[in-house]
Amino acid sequence: MPKTIGYECTGCGEFFNSDAAHRFHRVGGYGEAIFSTNSKGKRGDLLGYGSHTRRCLSIEEMKAKGMVKNELGRWVMEAYDSTILYSEDQEQENDTEEEESA
Ligand SMILES: [Zn+2]
Repeated sequence: MPKTIGYECTGCGEFFNSDAAHRFHRVGGYGEAIFSTNSKGKRGDLLGYGSHTRRCLSIEEMKAKGMVKNELGRWVMEAYDSTILYSEDQEQENDTEEEESA
């Protein structure tokens, strides 16, 4: 493992202060299998695969999600980094639609 602090994204080249922050700026699907659901709520037939839309958020999108750059020029997730004194009012509207199971 490299001893460098922070994570450089190979996708967009931005630096992130944590793996969580790095993962947070990645959105979209991996092209997961889609199954039908039968009347009992169980998984049915394989219908196909979702489109692979995995990508990095743009700078503007990261800002819109509440991410900020710290003094080191690394992106941090504001809500999770108590060292950042940034927010004027705490907007807790971050719907974290992260599903990093793949
Ligand atoms: Zn990236």
